[in-house]
Amino acid sequence: MGKGDKKTKRGKIILGTFGVRKKRKKTSMISKKKKRYCCYCGVLMIPKKKASKEKKFPEKGETDDHVPQQCLFDGYGEEYTINRITVPSCRKCNDEFAKIEDDLRDLIGISNDNNYEQKKITKKAVKAIFNKSNWTKRLYTDENGAVRYVKFDYNKLEINHIKNFKGIYYEEFKQIVPKNYRINVIDKPNTHDTVNYIMAFLKKFGTWKKSGHEDIFRYKIIPYKNENHNVVKADRLSDSIGVFSLLDYHKSILILIFGIKENKLIKKNN
Ligand SMILES: [Zn+2]
Repeated sequence: MGKGDKKTKRGKIILGTFGVRKKRKKTSMISKKKKRYCCYCGVLMIPKKKASKEKKFPEKGETDDHVPQQCLFDGYGEEYTINRITVPSCRKCNDEFAKIEDDLRDLIGISNDNNYEQKKITKKAVKAIFNKSNWTKRLYTDENGAVRYVKFDYNKLEINHIKNFKGIYYEEFKQIVPKNYRINVIDKPNTHDTVNYIMAFLKKFGTWKKSGHEDIFRYKIIPYKNENHNVVKADRLSDSIGVFSLLDYHKSILILIFGIKENKLIKKNN
């Protein structure tokens, strides 16, 4: 019943009278759907349906990206791939990262310690390394000609770790890593005092979470803040000045990542 309707004594609306109706709020298609941003580069994405209708995938088209990359699951059974993390990524980021993601698989593959499950990854890794034209430069052999180790491009690996860090950050907090975050990657977390301190912090707080299976990828991500010149755990992300994070691939490659909001650094220095 609207304002202005004429009613009978019993309260019925007299036919043919249409009182003042409330105007319906206009809702556009865009505002109805939540805007989605790429969790890696932050670009506003073109919705998935619209993007897939167009023949060429537009750069800003929305895709789902696996964290970590799919190739780290090669050769593993279905039971390893349940509940893998996927995050919203633009087509451009998804395609760009696909070019570098094999390197981490190769690193895991060649450091295989007779693990049967990793056989396929090892096979692929060896093939990939020898298929590249620069393979002779990457191998270090001993006096008997046996390969001692393979050199990797750590810049590429670092890009990959930061990508996965951004992925788990999105998974954990349902928001993208702020633009003012300075991200530090430590690939052998055991040498420095500060690193030891953060490692102790991560050991003490939080539980391991996984994507698919903990033998493939597990991680921790914990917000922290300064309190009386001490670094303590922040209960909420909004109170934090950054996050500490551990990425553990195949329980053989452990990466420490810490992000800190840049403006907090400036404040501290003043
Ligand atoms: Zn992107």
